[in-house]
Amino acid sequence: MLLHNATKGSQAMSILHSIGANATGFDKQLSFQFYKCYIRPIFEYALPLLTPTNNELKILEKAQDNACRLIMRGHKSSSTQVIKHMNNMANMSDRMVVLCAKNLVRVQQLPADALLTLFLQQLITSRTCHLKKLQTRNPIWQRLIADLPTTRTPQRIYIDKTDLKLQLNQFLLDQWHSTQSKFVYAGHCRTTLGIDPIMYIPMTVHERSRLIRWRMGWLPGKPQACRNCNQINNLTTQLHVTICFQICENLDMDIHAFLNSIPKSPPRSPADKFYLQNRWIVLQQFLFNLESICLPTDEPIDRTTYTEQSPFIAWINGSSPSSTTTTPFAHHA
Ligand SMILES: [Zn+2]
Repeated sequence: MLLHNATKGSQAMSILHSIGANATGFDKQLSFQFYKCYIRPIFEYALPLLTPTNNELKILEKAQDNACRLIMRGHKSSSTQVIKHMNNMANMSDRMVVLCAKNLVRVQQLPADALLTLFLQQLITSRTCHLKKLQTRNPIWQRLIADLPTTRTPQRIYIDKTDLKLQLNQFLLDQWHSTQSKFVYAGHCRTTLGIDPIMYIPMTVHERSRLIRWRMGWLPGKPQACRNCNQINNLTTQLHVTICFQICENLDMDIHAFLNSIPKSPPRSPADKFYLQNRWIVLQQFLFNLESICLPTDEPIDRTTYTEQSPFIAWINGSSPSSTTTTPFAHHA
């Protein structure tokens, strides 16, 4: 079943990719929205009712990762943890737990004369009941009923919507924090859930592309001799270029901390506007210079991909249209 879902979803994804969910087509966030709206439901068909093995779940996760790589033009083994987090996309195994918990709660809230409700008591007392198996295996459900009085399990369990939402979020947050402790680039991302403002606040496509690639570890890309300091033993790792370009000193803070501090809406105080504007220019100059030394020597960077008139600065100062520029991507590490 899951193999069929993965194949069918991947076929649909290749169509979405051909009409614009690719490196030079739609805006990145839009592509991920399309994926979540049209492709992910195909992968997830019947998932909350199943009890798949880890290997079966891996097939689905691989299909989701490949969809992300099609949007980002990543090579077949490139890491996708960061881009999934930036677009608020959980792993398939976590999605299964979340969807199953929602359905378990929904079963309890069916009308009194619904067929399933009438059978519920009989189902739940049977030893081989699949519903019971789903309840036992679901950590969110277990947390939800843990707070209920421990006397006799009532025939119908009422779960408050707010409690369900709270437990779903807590579960996903715990899963994300455990991922952050295992992966370097994920560790640098925001510790909260939600779409990263880098995906949608106004800026040029080149600025957004460089920021996303920096976050994912694709910029500087494959380490090579650093052409900024011209020291033969210095390779263009993120650690080296951060020191070589003195970016932390110029930003007055760590680059990841700055990215995590970018607000979702323009700041009100003139001091904050000034602060963000200056640092934005410093950061974008750095990323532009970094990309220029990472391109092959016979491939000079297109200077028009850098501008001091960034839509971000207009947005910070409250004079920006809500849309972002739609120039296609030009450079990829
Ligand atoms: Zn250097």
